[in-house]
Amino acid sequence: MKIVPRKPPTPFLIAVLLLGSSTALAHPGHDVSGLSAGLLHPFNGFDHLLAMVAVGLWAAQNGGRKIWLLPAAFMLLMAVGAKCALIYPFLPLIESGIAASVLVLGIVIALSLKLSARLSIAITALFGFFHGYAHGLEMFGAVEPEAYALGFLATTAALHLAGIMTGIATRVRCMRLPQALGTVIAASGVWLLSAI
Ligand SMILES: [Zn+2]
Repeated sequence: MKIVPRKPPTPFLIAVLLLGSSTALAHPGHDVSGLSAGLLHPFNGFDHLLAMVAVGLWAAQNGGRKIWLLPAAFMLLMAVGAKCALIYPFLPLIESGIAASVLVLGIVIALSLKLSARLSIAITALFGFFHGYAHGLEMFGAVEPEAYALGFLATTAALHLAGIMTGIATRVRCMRLPQALGTVIAASGVWLLSAI
């Protein structure tokens, strides 16, 4: 039998995954084995997906150094959060923190809010920690936890990049579009909070 290499997710596949996702929140029990499960994990629910694209959008609105500092802070603290969950898996309100991250990121994008580098990095890093901690919790019993972690980090980077590219592409002619997207993201955050 010929082995065909897997293609990376295309926008079409992403749309299908979004439509096929029956839950708003990514964590009610799912496959955690290996790289492909990790790669697909952020598509399991809207909560990760929206927050990760939002970080990219906000970074692009801010521009300058923050365009890479914010996504880097999110990803770094996501890795730290996952590690912390494996050591101390008892922190409460993590899903609420994730839903709140969608709401707050939506609001700052809708307002095109530009805070100091330190404050915006701190906010983004805190949210990254929540997302990573939730990933870590579900990694108990994972077959290949490192490969799974690598997978979700790679998809997170791609989603940040998608947000950044959207932010940059709309900068000249339609600056209002990211703000409109921010409003939709914030509304989704309210919905996510109500779904917990
Ligand atoms: Zn997760």
